[in-house]
Amino acid sequence: MIKKALLIHPEISRTKYNFAGVIDNEPLELEYISAMLKSSGITCEIWDGQVEKIPAAKKIKDFRPELLYVCGRTRQESFMKEYCRAAKSICGSVVIVGGIHAQHCFERFYISEVDYILKTFDIFKILDIINGVTPERISGLCYKCGDKWLSNEAEPFDISRLPIPDRTYFYSHSDRYRYLELLPCAHVRTSYSCPFRCTFCYRNRLNCGKYTVRPIRDVVMEIRNIKCNNIYIIDDDFLIDKRRVEEFIRLVRKYGIKKKYVCYGRADFIAANQPLMAELKKIGFYYILTGLEASDESYLESYRKKTTVDCNETAVRTLNRVGINIMGMFIADLDFSPSDFTKLYSWIRRNKLSHVAVSILTPELNSSMFDKYRDRIISDDPAEWDYLHVVAKPKKMSVKEYYFHYHILMIRLFVKGWREGIYDFLDYGSYIRSFLKNMFRFGG
Ligand code: SF4
Repeated sequence: MIKKALLIHPEISRTKYNFAGVIDNEPLELEYISAMLKSSGITCEIWDGQVEKIPAAKKIKDFRPELLYVCGRTRQESFMKEYCRAAKSICGSVVIVGGIHAQHCFERFYISEVDYILKTFDIFKILDIINGVTPERISGLCYKCGDKWLSNEAEPFDISRLPIPDRTYFYSHSDRYRYLELLPCAHVRTSYSCPFRCTFCYRNRLNCGKYTVRPIRDVVMEIRNIKCNNIYIIDDDFLIDKRRVEEFIRLVRKYGIKKKYVCYGRADFIAANQPLMAELKKIGFYYILTGLEASDESYLESYRKKTTVDCNETAVRTLNRVGINIMGMFIADLDFSPSDFTKLYSWIRRNKLSHVAVSILTPELNSSMFDKYRDRIISDDPAEWDYLHVVAKPKKMSVKEYYFHYHILMIRLFVKGWREGIYDFLDYGSYIRSFLKNMFRFGG
């Protein structure tokens, strides 16, 4: 019987070109598992590569887990595999891989050092494995049969079954987990998946494509008990159901909860619910992260975003007026010409958008967008699926030129942010130096 488990959240990257120290995420998924395992009498520790000082291999050597669970995203795939190999070779642990990348691209983990792959958010399947339920009877599980891998159909998971996370690890590293200047910042999840179907996004396909939400009272009670004043609601989109958001506001007021909040919300919801945005501001909403995606109608249509440029402008105006920081997230499309980068910058300026993030269009592995770009893919290194690298050939310029224009845009946005004083906690110089370096280095 397994009595000792190690849960790993990988390092983000081993280069300096990332947002470590600016956005560091509480390993919430592992804290749910930790709560579940501890309540079953299993000793459980977490190792989070974002904050740990000792290497994972040393942790494995010292702790000698009988079970290793590793989660992660596409860009962390090679680290995930490295930890699996270490646990197998050092102490022969039972190795389980889970999390969103494994759920979406499970076949990439068909390697000898992995024993089981979870294709579901249902963490209770880990207990089934520990309790010796035969793999054929565990839905959403990939397992080995001789030298072949078999994969059981997954079922949608009802999120309300999740336990309250064990935040011991978060509290002992609260000097590290942050969202920009909000430090520490605790994560709360109220839903899985998303009812929308934007073409570039694979999150709506997670949980078998089924959107599932927790009762909002449970969410508010959880938030009330978290010993942290900053709460990042990490749902793919928190602002979907107006009545649910109104109930959230009512309960936060009723229990006198005074915290700052970060959440994702679509531009159409913000534009259509302006009075509600003012109420969210009053109860402490501080950042709303909004996928504006494009300043050009044709891209919004091709992404099937179901919003318009007009609606994006209204959303920015609304949040600027009520005083919530809108973090506008955009996609630098691979069909961009040099003037598209300039147009995007002008739109951002014209609309007085201060907080901006621009990702390079990245066709997710195992998606219809990947199929569309298959002939243009130029990388097979999953570490480059970080939205900062060009992984498919740009249409109207060379890779080198594309990086040049992308980094010029990033520098202009940073300089604009510096003038507006929005990221005073950042070391601007080092970011600008790294953008300058990458203007010429990537794809060179
Ligand atoms: S981009 Fe946002 S709204 Fe669109 S499918 Fe993904 S999570 Fe949903």
